[in-house]
Amino acid sequence: MVTLHYMIQAKQISKTYGKTAVLKDVAFDLASSEIVSIVGPSGAGKTTLLHILGTLERPDDNPDTELIIGGKNVNTLSDSALSTFRNESLGFVFQFHQLLPEFTAIENICLPAYIKGTSKKDAEKRAIELLDFFELTSRAQHKPSELSGGEQQRIAVARALINKPSLLLADEPSGNLDSASAEKLHDLFFRLRDTFSISMILVTHNKSLAARADRMLTLVDGQWN
Ligand code: ADP
Repeated sequence: MVTLHYMIQAKQISKTYGKTAVLKDVAFDLASSEIVSIVGPSGAGKTTLLHILGTLERPDDNPDTELIIGGKNVNTLSDSALSTFRNESLGFVFQFHQLLPEFTAIENICLPAYIKGTSKKDAEKRAIELLDFFELTSRAQHKPSELSGGEQQRIAVARALINKPSLLLADEPSGNLDSASAEKLHDLFFRLRDTFSISMILVTHNKSLAARADRMLTLVDGQWN
């Protein structure tokens, strides 16, 4: 018998803002090392779902709701336990890189490791490995304003991976890039999965990225279509 290892098992995820039901009893599973893309029209609830699956937001309070990430029932964790879990187990990439402008590329990459309590020596060693893997070694000492859009976004991915998360969540990661830089970023995602077995959830309007995923799911009006 084949045993499927789940990265995420989510059941009956709902989210209501005021009287607006943004997510309606959504179920979601993600296998280890799987890449799933989530597509759908603007306002469908994609970002809200990604934030809930990434523990940045909590779903509506409902006894039937289940959110298990890496075998951990995150719904029952306190806010501070959740922050630690997020810092150590999850990586995030957003449409805009959100690198800190006054820090160099390598300093930006190391920040989540410092928050975790990793020594400067160990954090920098890992950052140098990531820069090498991303072919950005020559950019280590550059500030974000001295990097191209594609380079900035690859540095943001390296920052998301410094603590060796098993799950990467990305919200329109190539939404702000020209097509050549987007393609390079997309190749990187698949190379990362093949090398480090990272699971990924990619919310994207990019048709080529969405189609390359192992599964593509479409959200419409807060429900799978
Ligand atoms: P998508 O990512 O598919 O474009 P979102 O998840 O961003 O959709 O938003 C879905 C709906 O939820 C939208 O109508 C949006 O206005 C609403 N929404 C999202 N966040 C909030 C919030 N914090 N407060 C109120 N409404 C929100």
